[in-house]
Amino acid sequence: MRLANKVALITGAGQGIGRETALLFAQEGAKVVVADINLAAAQAVVAEIGGGNAIAVQADVSKAADSAAMVAAAEETFGALHILFNNAGIMHSQDDNAMTTDEAIWDLTMNINLKGVFFGCKYGIPALQRAGGGSIINTASFVALLGAATPQIAYTASKGGVLSMTRELAVVHARENIRVNAICPGPLRTELLMKFLDTDAKKQRRLVHIPMGRFGEAHEIAKAALFLASSESSFVTGATFTVDGGITASYVTPE
Ligand code: NAD
Repeated sequence: MRLANKVALITGAGQGIGRETALLFAQEGAKVVVADINLAAAQAVVAEIGGGNAIAVQADVSKAADSAAMVAAAEETFGALHILFNNAGIMHSQDDNAMTTDEAIWDLTMNINLKGVFFGCKYGIPALQRAGGGSIINTASFVALLGAATPQIAYTASKGGVLSMTRELAVVHARENIRVNAICPGPLRTELLMKFLDTDAKKQRRLVHIPMGRFGEAHEIAKAALFLASSESSFVTGATFTVDGGITASYVTPE
């Protein structure tokens, strides 16, 4: 088992990438704190894991007190925290171009997607230090690396922030046995994107850019997170780990 004796905290773990990662980390021997704004979804994941190996915590990552409390729950319940997966994020249907996007949509997106990662680190890093080190994984996106003609200005800006913040965290904490890496998923067949691309035409518009010609699956991102969480990635820090079906490698897609 690749995560035996480890305690992992995963945000946005009620569904999608976070849920798949919680299930995989538990299979690999970790104790898992399943944190989500949606408590019922988090509890359902804990029930799937079973055996006293996970707890559900209701946390809105954009709130400092909730972020502090989720970290405290990890230490109180399982004695330490070794792996922090800052994964919760939103993609708002009214997030559009700079002219049409309301300030409120910008603020909401930034507060969850970017400030949420900051809060995770603000309260999580001291816990990792107390544990003697650990691994932080932040979920950015391929849009941190590429612009799109179908705009989502706030989302894209927030993910760019996650990626650059990841690099700085990695450098600052490199001598503390704390590694910090970002995963940049490509377009995935999760609720987040399928709700945003809500017509077949919009889905096809995105699919033409993916060399593999399909959306990714949440479990494919969970496997990348497992690599970054485990000691197999012991010399990897500050990395941008693209898991994207080739979208960021492509100039034109194959016929
Ligand atoms: P999802 O919508 O399936 O799941 C997101 C989870 O986060 C949900 O359980 C939701 O309740 C929770 N959540 C939302 N706001 C929260 C908050 N304020 N506090 C705590 N939890 C909150 O999404 P997903 O596709 O699994 O996305 C997970 C991450 O991956 C996000 O950061 C997203 O931006 C990123 N991402 C997704 C894609 C994609 O195509 N789906 C691509 C690149 C990056």
